[in-house]
Amino acid sequence: MRNRPIIDPIADALINRRIIEQHPRLQPVLSRPTTTCVYDGRPSVEVLTGPLGQRYGHCADCARATRELTATWPSLPPHTWAFTNRATGRPVTVTCLPGCTTDHDRDTVTPTFPGDITCSTQSNEDAVTLPVDAEGDPIDARVLNAFLEVRPFSDTVAETLPYAVIELVDQHYVDRLDPDALATVINVLAERVAELRRVHAELVRSRAVYAASAGQDMEASS
Ligand SMILES: [Zn+2]
Ligand SMILES: [Zn+2]
Repeated sequence: MRNRPIIDPIADALINRRIIEQHPRLQPVLSRPTTTCVYDGRPSVEVLTGPLGQRYGHCADCARATRELTATWPSLPPHTWAFTNRATGRPVTVTCLPGCTTDHDRDTVTPTFPGDITCSTQSNEDAVTLPVDAEGDPIDARVLNAFLEVRPFSDTVAETLPYAVIELVDQHYVDRLDPDALATVINVLAERVAELRRVHAELVRSRAVYAASAGQDMEASS
């Protein structure tokens, strides 16, 4: 590429250091120099500015995945709703994960323990399948289906920031592949890897949004 923009990792690091001071939980992502991809450490082809002003690098594959994500990113702000804390009887406000598809009706109609609240972006019911043989009879199974989850009030700190979940299998076989069938499997898996990159970009973006709004919630309740 001839007109590749000049990447200034020192200026970007100064910006990111200020953002880390306000949002310490972003430290793991923002401490990487912008000459390398924020997701996988490969060389950057571009540096973008996130919703908090954070600077982050993208390799070519992740830049493509992020463009796909941007096209589908929810245009409305994340949904905010309230439930009654079953332990204290007091109302609690929750801001959903961007793109949350969980039906929270049950959480809102009856008092609920905060630790039981889960937001999830899982929606891809008709993701690509492969004929997977686990017990002698191949069945069409979703493979490498990935989505995001968060349990905002979990006692486990790692669950209070959005995390990715991958639906994975062991001792399951795709059997008797001729060259054409193997080519099909390769295409399916390549498509799944592209989807994993999109979910990876989604995870980073959701964490940034979530860290910002979770900070506000904490201030509001203190
Ligand atoms: Zn990358
Ligand atoms: Zn939700």
